[in-house]
Amino acid sequence: TDTSHIRNFSIIAHIDHGKSTISDRILELTHTVEERDLESQMLDSMDIERERGITIKSNAVRVTYTADDGQDYDFNLIDTPGHVDFTYEVSRSLAACEGAVLVVDATQGVEAQTVSNANLAMNADLDIVPAINKIDLPSAHPEEVKREIEEELAIPAEDSVLVSGKTGEGIHDLLEAIVYLVSPPSGDADAPLKALILDSYFDEYRGIIATVRVFDGQIRPGARLRMMALGDTFLCDGVGVKRPLETPVDVLGVGEVGYVVTGLKEPGLVKTGDTITEDERPCAEACPGYHEAKPMVFTGLFPIDNKQYENLRDALEKLHVNDPSLTWEPETSVALGFGFRVGFLGLLHMEVVKERLEREFSLDLIATSPSVNYHVYCTDGTMLQITSPQDLPDVTRIDHIEEPYLKAKVIVPPDFMGAVMQLVVDHRGETKDMVYLSERSVEMHFDIPLAELILDFFDQLKSRTKGYASLDYEFSDYRTSDLVRLDILLAGEEVDALSFIVHRDKAYDMARGLCDKLKEIIPQQLFEVPIQGAIGNKIISRSTVRARRKDVLAKCYGGDISRKRKLLEKQKEGKKRMKSIGRVEVPQEAFLAVLKVD
Ligand code: GDP
Ligand code: MG
Repeated sequence: TDTSHIRNFSIIAHIDHGKSTISDRILELTHTVEERDLESQMLDSMDIERERGITIKSNAVRVTYTADDGQDYDFNLIDTPGHVDFTYEVSRSLAACEGAVLVVDATQGVEAQTVSNANLAMNADLDIVPAINKIDLPSAHPEEVKREIEEELAIPAEDSVLVSGKTGEGIHDLLEAIVYLVSPPSGDADAPLKALILDSYFDEYRGIIATVRVFDGQIRPGARLRMMALGDTFLCDGVGVKRPLETPVDVLGVGEVGYVVTGLKEPGLVKTGDTITEDERPCAEACPGYHEAKPMVFTGLFPIDNKQYENLRDALEKLHVNDPSLTWEPETSVALGFGFRVGFLGLLHMEVVKERLEREFSLDLIATSPSVNYHVYCTDGTMLQITSPQDLPDVTRIDHIEEPYLKAKVIVPPDFMGAVMQLVVDHRGETKDMVYLSERSVEMHFDIPLAELILDFFDQLKSRTKGYASLDYEFSDYRTSDLVRLDILLAGEEVDALSFIVHRDKAYDMARGLCDKLKEIIPQQLFEVPIQGAIGNKIISRSTVRARRKDVLAKCYGGDISRKRKLLEKQKEGKKRMKSIGRVEVPQEAFLAVLKVD
């Protein structure tokens, strides 16, 4: 089979540089979607993506482009997320491609994730097409950005295309550049099937649907196929491509990207990164697969209604098909009952998963404050890995504790260097070095505890640099720190779900801040609720929620029954997100208050 008319590429960039908008223009220009049907950010198909205006999942679509040479080319285009939490999604997508369109915002230039995504693409040996976007804006400085691409990324910029995702200018040139600069796929059409699973999702009716890239051979409906790593076999129920709606095809041939309906109904039977082959005639070697994404942030997820515990387990299993980086294990809390300790790649990932569980599986959940994975060295010579403050052993048993550190990188205009250095110090970090990338930007490197970064580092970085700084990081190592557990007592009762681990030097400020914050968040009850912060038996801060004076209904003076009912309904709605802890009604926000302490 001839693959010379196929081009597989990912669109990569720092967040907000315009990947999804450019994808929209490509769908439009290739008449994949007619103008009247085009919604913006077409490939961001999840509600959360649309609402937040961010891409969370990579999305592969097929478009057919009639090039200036008169030939039709099949493009398999993968729009990818830009946020650092989802880097693993990007690397998964790149493994399916020969090329990458690297989008750089002409008003912002090279930013932290531009660098990391460009590195991923270079390490995967992809043909890179730089696209300088937003040239319609008056503040665009494309020539300078070209220089940054050459100097900072070591990518020849003479091939870069100037585009505007907004006006469509230059998109035609971009498509031509893709035809000429991205290599067509190669592979053996007659060899046994070898297809890499890039992604998959659970469909209640059809079972698991897998997105694949065929490296050798072909897939036809009716074929008996096998998952190489997991070993299960299945009859292929159908294959197709997304345009962007699912469009069945007769065959997925060598070099193509498309979906396979596996018919498998058990969530655990399909694994991203696994290779699909023929059952009768398996290929000799599987695709290299993926590094497992390691969770960095952990939180307890508890159903508000304890009857939903099994549903939550079921939902986690199904969501895992689509999000293989999720990990979980059962967790019990005195305050919140039965739930799971769930591992995430970062805070945004945590928010997204919680929201998807609630929306896609109709669950009402409480999330507790995020924690990292601590290594606790005990006096008896053992080492415990804990991800929940509740699991911290008694201080008398602890020799020392190690916490995860990151190597972080910030790219920022020189004017803000001082502000960033101060912020790093405030968060127990240490600036290592800095490099001038150009007159406009400095790249700063520093080491910082992950626990500090997940609190409010990013928001503060943005506000202290007027939005100019961009951040990227990776795990570095474990280091010893003087850590203690801060407990919170409500009405004299310790609430396990509100505890967290903090550096001793920050414990007092944190305890004070938290007591103040909780006082704002916890609604008035019919009685006074003292809030206390404690380390061990020592109370180190306190505040009080005063008692509510009157019953709300007292305001209605009997008469208006419908108004009374409305008030009661309103109260009930408010309660939905509340959890009774002892006699105190506590809203969800309280459990994440630690993220909001200034
Ligand atoms: P992504 O995060 O890389 O997918 O970026 P999006 O495609 O979501 O775009 C981020 C923001 O930039 C959105 O508000 C877009 O409307 C805007 N945007 C994208 N491309 C252009 C462009 O060429 N010109 C202008 N003026 N705005 C653009
Ligand atoms: Mg996007």
